[in-house]
Amino acid sequence: MASKVYFWNLRASMKAPYDQRIHRLLERTGFAGHVASGELAAVKIHFGERGVTGHVQPLMVRPILAELTRAGARPFLTDASTLYVGQRGEAVSHAMQAALHGYDPLLMGAPVIIADGLKGASQVALPVHGGKHFKEAFIAADIAEADLLVSINHLKGHELAGFGGALKNIGMGAASKQGKMQQHVTTGPLVDEAACKGCGACVGICAAQALALLDGLDGKPHVLLNLDACRGCGACFLACKNGGLTINWQTDVAEFLERMMEYAAAVLLSRPKPSLHISFVTNVTPDCDCMGFSDAPICPDIGVLASLDPVAIDQAGIDLVNKAEPLWPSHLPKGLKAGQDKFLAMRPNLPPAMGLDYAEDLGLGSREYELVAL
Ligand code: SF4
Ligand code: SF4
Repeated sequence: MASKVYFWNLRASMKAPYDQRIHRLLERTGFAGHVASGELAAVKIHFGERGVTGHVQPLMVRPILAELTRAGARPFLTDASTLYVGQRGEAVSHAMQAALHGYDPLLMGAPVIIADGLKGASQVALPVHGGKHFKEAFIAADIAEADLLVSINHLKGHELAGFGGALKNIGMGAASKQGKMQQHVTTGPLVDEAACKGCGACVGICAAQALALLDGLDGKPHVLLNLDACRGCGACFLACKNGGLTINWQTDVAEFLERMMEYAAAVLLSRPKPSLHISFVTNVTPDCDCMGFSDAPICPDIGVLASLDPVAIDQAGIDLVNKAEPLWPSHLPKGLKAGQDKFLAMRPNLPPAMGLDYAEDLGLGSREYELVAL
């Protein structure tokens, strides 16, 4: 059955300004009817890595928080720490980065709470039903434990997943560090022999006994990985403080997308109430807001979408971007026409459905949708 995706085309006026448009958009989803007084609402957002301008701007988010508060919820803005070294790898730098991009609690009317604790170790294991890769997923504790979940995402291209939307904001974004590692690691870690100090910390933590210490040619102990035994759990990355184990980013894209969708399923299908997804199809940059830069957008600004169905909202967002006129200068190949797939044109190695077919199989929602304009 087609799911409803509500759409506002960015047109506003003095009589119907932005906050009223947002009010009408969210009202149509019926989400407020699921809110009980005093419930804690995790508002999952990407605050933008330092150097990025494409992330959703705080003044666009403020009326959404006001709507949740009006409905009786107590919202907090949240994200989980990243795997890579940047401004969002632990809670202190992450919260400061959010403040630098204008996410001030007094301005927003909601605090910023980094959901996986000070160093990214605060997590909850949630079951994955019917997945090919995981039986459980490691989710940032404060997102898992919140009474309500609202996902605000900036639709854009993504260097590995093809696009970043509602499902990526939850599947990757709500995962703890260990959960993020599990999604990326399909072939085991890469051992950096020069960085390895032979301390053995990773050996003791590997339940699969895939790591061992052996004397190297320099006469010092070095870690050795048995790839056949490795389960790709990612636990050894956390144990190594010396950079001796790094992520093999050259993962199989189709499998990576399936893993990410299983994580999204663990978060969303374990919740007793529906979650609300809001997608800003604006400033559609070719790459993720993690990258530390923002390139020129690939199409004009289109609008804001809202839905209770994360698959439908992602499909609708992709379709709107693909229908739009292409913009240059951007990563898009020259000569691309409106109606051709911009995401696949930028990254031809992607599976055509970019994981949405598997998300549908997992029961996350429907790729069939009805776009309801305000
Ligand atoms: S890879 Fe890291 S944790 Fe493992 S032995 Fe080397 S330095 Fe120690
Ligand atoms: S990824 Fe997991 S199974 Fe593989 S070597 Fe590291 S700890 Fe062991």
